[in-house]
Amino acid sequence: MEYLSANQYIKKRFGEKAYKISLDGGFTCPTRDGTKGTRGCIFCSQYGSGDYAQSKAKSITEQIEEGKKLVQRKNKKENTKYIAYFQAYTNTYAPMEKLESLFTEAINHPDVIALSIATRPDCLEEDILPLLEKLNKIKPLWIELGLQTIHEKSAKYIRRGYSLKTYDEAVEKLRNIGIEQIITHVILGLPGETKKQMLETVDYVGKSKSNGIKLQLLHVLENTDLAKEYRKGTFEVLELEEYAEIVAESIGILPEDMVIHRITGDGNRHELIAPKWSLKKWHTLQTIQKKIQETKR
Ligand code: SF4
Repeated sequence: MEYLSANQYIKKRFGEKAYKISLDGGFTCPTRDGTKGTRGCIFCSQYGSGDYAQSKAKSITEQIEEGKKLVQRKNKKENTKYIAYFQAYTNTYAPMEKLESLFTEAINHPDVIALSIATRPDCLEEDILPLLEKLNKIKPLWIELGLQTIHEKSAKYIRRGYSLKTYDEAVEKLRNIGIEQIITHVILGLPGETKKQMLETVDYVGKSKSNGIKLQLLHVLENTDLAKEYRKGTFEVLELEEYAEIVAESIGILPEDMVIHRITGDGNRHELIAPKWSLKKWHTLQTIQKKIQETKR
């Protein structure tokens, strides 16, 4: 089965490969600062799902230059292009002036061809939309929304802190202002969820106005409340074969033009408790790819 990967989409869209540089704008989350909670989502590490983000003490331009150096160690090609990626925590959860200043600095960097902002659907207030619309006119803007699941019970368990309706409204708002890529994060393997439920979430995203998806394996990380639950034995993580099958079936039910930005997790290996098989990244990807090839749409 063929599918549209992020790399293929980038090559088609920009005519060349581009590398993501993770940036840290020093944000927090409403589930961490006391607004909706203080302990964050149950699975989220102390780094706020941005384990590879650059140091927030540095300016955005400095972080981009550092990220470029890391890429250039492996890729010597001149005029390499980059996607500036605000990854850690909730990247629209700050005063407007701060957002405008950080995003404008990133998008105007001459080597940056697109800006990607990860956020929560409940942090897209009306007043931020004109800024996003303006940025999207300078260079393509991608907005990533952490949905994880459509199932209320799981959403409560992971302490997501907003309803499915809020997600639907956020996607609608972003569509209405012409955001180029709306990418929805889904976690496969949440405690208590069956394969059928996971596929229901994927199907829902496929039928939404989101045009990109990240399929992420649930990682149990050190220093999270999920780790405590795991150690108590309240749930088990997915086996590689199981996970590969769910990813393949997920892709099979998604529209062919949906961009699949990720097919596994990418957590910090030093913090990973389970599943350990995901540390063998090459083997994991090979197994998933094989299963995708065997599966029919
Ligand atoms: S998963 Fe996202 S919203 Fe939840 S605590 Fe982590 S960074 Fe914040």
